[in-house]
Amino acid sequence: MSFRMLNGMRDHQAEQAELRGDCERCFGLCCVALPFAASADFAVDKAAGTPCRNLREDHRCGIHARLRQSGFTGCTVYDCFGAGQQVSQVTFGGRDWRTGPKADARRMFEVFPVVRQLHELLWYLTEALALPAARPVRAELDEALQKTRALAAGTPEDLAGLDVAAHRQEVNVLLLRTSELARAGTKGRKKDRRGADLMGARLRGADLRGASLRGAYLIAADLTGADLRGADLIGADLRDADLTGADLTGAFFLTQPQLNAARGSAGTRLPGSVARPGHWTAQV
Ligand code: SF4
Repeated sequence: MSFRMLNGMRDHQAEQAELRGDCERCFGLCCVALPFAASADFAVDKAAGTPCRNLREDHRCGIHARLRQSGFTGCTVYDCFGAGQQVSQVTFGGRDWRTGPKADARRMFEVFPVVRQLHELLWYLTEALALPAARPVRAELDEALQKTRALAAGTPEDLAGLDVAAHRQEVNVLLLRTSELARAGTKGRKKDRRGADLMGARLRGADLRGASLRGAYLIAADLTGADLRGADLIGADLRDADLTGADLTGAFFLTQPQLNAARGSAGTRLPGSVARPGHWTAQV
């Protein structure tokens, strides 16, 4: 690997590191702005814009150390892609929703999910730009990255009026082309399982090298020992999927919340863009 490529990888990993939630610089926005429905992931119902009953005055979670045992597994899976600190410190210049005007608080809760979507797109675009095979679309990716950054830096009013779905659609076309270029480098016939219903599927040891698993439903799928090298995992639902011993080296468009929702082990091989979830067992 050349020195330039190595530096490029470091840059992209540093940029992606910025796209992770930093609760120290956030006013607990995800614990207030988002609605929860009582389920296996959240022990209680909560309306959007209402603080979670476990949120303390200092914006810390009162049950942080025992979220899973308390029925709040969803909170250990979630990540805001850095939208919390962006909205708290940049969009609203460090104004706390608890002490500021009510109208500001409402607007803050309204734009937080919009910025999260934009930051998630920044995550994908940053990763796409680092893929050597993306060279033919690099200029377009860079343009999309700059545009998305500019949108995320907008005023509260700009963000509230933004058609984020339309922007997502625009970026998605580009990510799809990037995926095709990146997966073309994998030898053999690449499986296209885009949007496939693979819930509970027995894919133990499956050869999914270079596969498109975009938006696939892999809930509770058995992927133990599967070969997912170079696969596109954008939007794949990996809740409770078993990745024990699987190889995801070079898999792309995989986010930390997706991985956090899956099961795995110390022997699961991961791309450098994500961290091994703390709740995975230490088994190899
Ligand atoms: S349980 Fe804790 S982390 Fe989850 S929403 Fe409530 S305060 Fe936030």
